[in-house]
Amino acid sequence: MKVFSVAGFHHTGKTTVTVELIKELKKRGYSISSIKDIHNENFTMEKKGSNSWKHAQASENTVIARGISETYQIWNKQLTLNEMLSHLDSDFVIVEGMKEVALPRIICAIDEEQIKQLVDGTVFAISGIYANDHDKYNNLKVFHSTDQIKELTDLVIQKVFPVLPLPNLECCGECGMNCREMVSGILAGRNSREDCKTDRNLDIQIEVGGKDINIVPYVQKTLKDIIIAYVKNLKGYQEGDSIDIKIRD
Ligand code: SF4
Repeated sequence: MKVFSVAGFHHTGKTTVTVELIKELKKRGYSISSIKDIHNENFTMEKKGSNSWKHAQASENTVIARGISETYQIWNKQLTLNEMLSHLDSDFVIVEGMKEVALPRIICAIDEEQIKQLVDGTVFAISGIYANDHDKYNNLKVFHSTDQIKELTDLVIQKVFPVLPLPNLECCGECGMNCREMVSGILAGRNSREDCKTDRNLDIQIEVGGKDINIVPYVQKTLKDIIIAYVKNLKGYQEGDSIDIKIRD
């Protein structure tokens, strides 16, 4: 799954760019999901007093509200990017916001001052209000969110790669860099996506409390070998069977 972000300060044109990219990628036959990061502390999808709100109040846990044309799943907590991605399955995911995560980024800005605060090697294009009267910022191309959406989409398809396994802040360092440096290296052509040493679920998947845990390759291999060594002596096991283990307190 290829994931990138459209980041910037408030009222810089992020949503317009995101929506135009969704439409253009969809037109080209790609499946798209999107994530909107919201900073309003009072934000809630629930209507106070509704029946599903009462469920959530009672359980303080996940609630699914099923309607005729829509179904909502509401978690009563903020999810990490990895947790959100684990629920999505599409060719591209566009994240509007989340400036801090290690993803290839398009920056939306109104002026150079804002760009200077946000730009680094993870940025591959500039857009937003700044594009109304600029077409370049240093070596980065600036794209108008409607007139040049086709060119910007071409660049997204060319630049964006399958998401790194730890795009949140907890990089493993196995490659000798952090994840943001790896994103920069891949965008600049110094690295390839295969240089990331920790890919999720290569040999073994562990969930703790419902969350996927990333494990470095040699630990994956060791755990896999130990578990298979035990399980293959059990009646009913056949070579190549997948093994699911649940441990409860
Ligand atoms: S090996 Fe992969 S997950 Fe680990 S720091 Fe490098 S890029 Fe990030």
